[in-house]
Amino acid sequence: LRASSLRDPLTGLHNRRYLSEEGGRLLRYAQRYQSDLCAAMIDVDHFKQINDRLGHQVGDLVLQRLAELITRAMRSTDLISRYGGEEVVLLLPSTNIDDAYSICERLRTTVEQHNWSDIHPRLRVTVSIGLAKDDGSTLTELLAHADAQLYTSKRAGRNRTSYAQSGR
Ligand code: GH3
Ligand code: MG
Ligand code: MG
Repeated sequence: LRASSLRDPLTGLHNRRYLSEEGGRLLRYAQRYQSDLCAAMIDVDHFKQINDRLGHQVGDLVLQRLAELITRAMRSTDLISRYGGEEVVLLLPSTNIDDAYSICERLRTTVEQHNWSDIHPRLRVTVSIGLAKDDGSTLTELLAHADAQLYTSKRAGRNRTSYAQSGR
């Protein structure tokens, strides 16, 4: 019961509740031991169009496949959680911003180049990513920074990773 209350039933990823509990712990640990930690906010591009044109079931299958691709690409110590409908948050402990950017770009490329045709012949999927590094603030603030960078990626044309150059 406890395990299922911490997982999202559609994707099997951790849910938002787990993110706030375990993510808070990871962040406090990183701040106490002055270790790097980055957060990434991933959002499927034009996901509403995928639903509208190909059907909600295809949309669900996209979310499930995306969860598999992300899980395969990440380390076991990374926290992966379904944050909203088509949004996934990553917390990357012991990872500096440059390495986090490489990881996010690798993941973004994996999604773009994935063969989605078994789900639907006309399906193409890309994601936009916003990245932020821990600057000693709260988890809520860290996620807000990542979300602001996600918005930058969307505005710049989608299918890209953005991060703030500044920060402590
Ligand atoms: P953008 O590129 O700006 O992110 O555009 P978008 O269409 O992805 O963004 P928007 O927020 O307008 O649409 C998100 C859609 O995700 C709307 C909602 O119906 C759909 N959605 C949310 N949860 C689920 C789900 O569990 N399954 C499916 N199939 N669709 C979902
Ligand atoms: Mg969204
Ligand atoms: Mg979207």
